[in-house]
Amino acid sequence: MESKGEGHGHRRHERKRDLDRPASAWREKELIDGRLVDVGVLILQTSGCSHYHEGGCSMCGYNYGPRLDVPPSSILRQFENGLGDLGEIRFLKIYTSGSFLDEDEVDPEVSDTILRTCKDLGLRLLFETRPEYVTPARIGRVQFLHDDVEVALGLESANDKVLECSINKGFSVKDYDRAAEILREREMDIRTYVLLKPPFLTETEAIRDSVATMAHAAEVSAALSLNPVNVQKGTLVEKLWRSWSYRPPWLWSVLEVLRSCEGLGVKVVCDPTGGGKERGAHNCGKCDDVILDSIRGFSQSQDYSRLGAPECGCKAIWESVVDLEPFVAGGCADLQRFFRRQRA
Ligand SMILES: [Zn+2]
Repeated sequence: MESKGEGHGHRRHERKRDLDRPASAWREKELIDGRLVDVGVLILQTSGCSHYHEGGCSMCGYNYGPRLDVPPSSILRQFENGLGDLGEIRFLKIYTSGSFLDEDEVDPEVSDTILRTCKDLGLRLLFETRPEYVTPARIGRVQFLHDDVEVALGLESANDKVLECSINKGFSVKDYDRAAEILREREMDIRTYVLLKPPFLTETEAIRDSVATMAHAAEVSAALSLNPVNVQKGTLVEKLWRSWSYRPPWLWSVLEVLRSCEGLGVKVVCDPTGGGKERGAHNCGKCDDVILDSIRGFSQSQDYSRLGAPECGCKAIWESVVDLEPFVAGGCADLQRFFRRQRA
């Protein structure tokens, strides 16, 4: 699982080793069919992402720390306890350390029970999965149990070179397109996660990559979620950040990518994890809060006029960065060396 601005990773420090409780649970609001509804978010503790065995993604902190052995009964209790804590909601988002549809991570009996429960409670359900677990049979089963489901896919970038050399994502754009096709044939809603500024891209390249990815994903998605990279513990991004080779994106860049989505015709949400802090998307410290508020206001209203543009001296600095920042050479080789070491 990657860092999801809508929620992921917000409260990871609260993670306890009590395997009967979710890693975290909170409420938020989201616009659905023109109405602002109460949303519950559950982060379930699972044994982890299958992609861990390939070194994991460069920005994802969920591969950090010991691998857990989480029995199916614990995952179910986390769901039940978490749901109880959330109170009255209309929409539930469930994230695991990897993929909800990975049967090695979430036992099929457990995912069946979760789907049935949400159906019974009249809850729209969102879960996240890597595209390789999206098969006609698996999606058929999901739909048989619950018809109000949104499937979240972490595409991150619509550029295969970025997927391979900046993120180590372990799949290609074609894999995402194939999964999206299966979901669309069955008229299921897709939410696509798009990353802003994976390592080894300049600020300018990062903006261009996210703008292109949002446009690519808009063709098949009901919603797009823009996720500026935040520096998570134990990741390659953290190593680079510590050696002054990486800076999280500027909030000016976040605004620019969001503005590019006007006219795409799909819902766009963004809530930068760690926004305004040195490990998250940030500006100079003076203008951060007002911009973050405007981004949240936009996410909850879909009103592009709410994307703020306060006057601040740091905008000139950002503009010169966008013009001048040199490309960090040798990115791909560095990344592949890092992941070889991880695997060793
Ligand atoms: Zn500023």
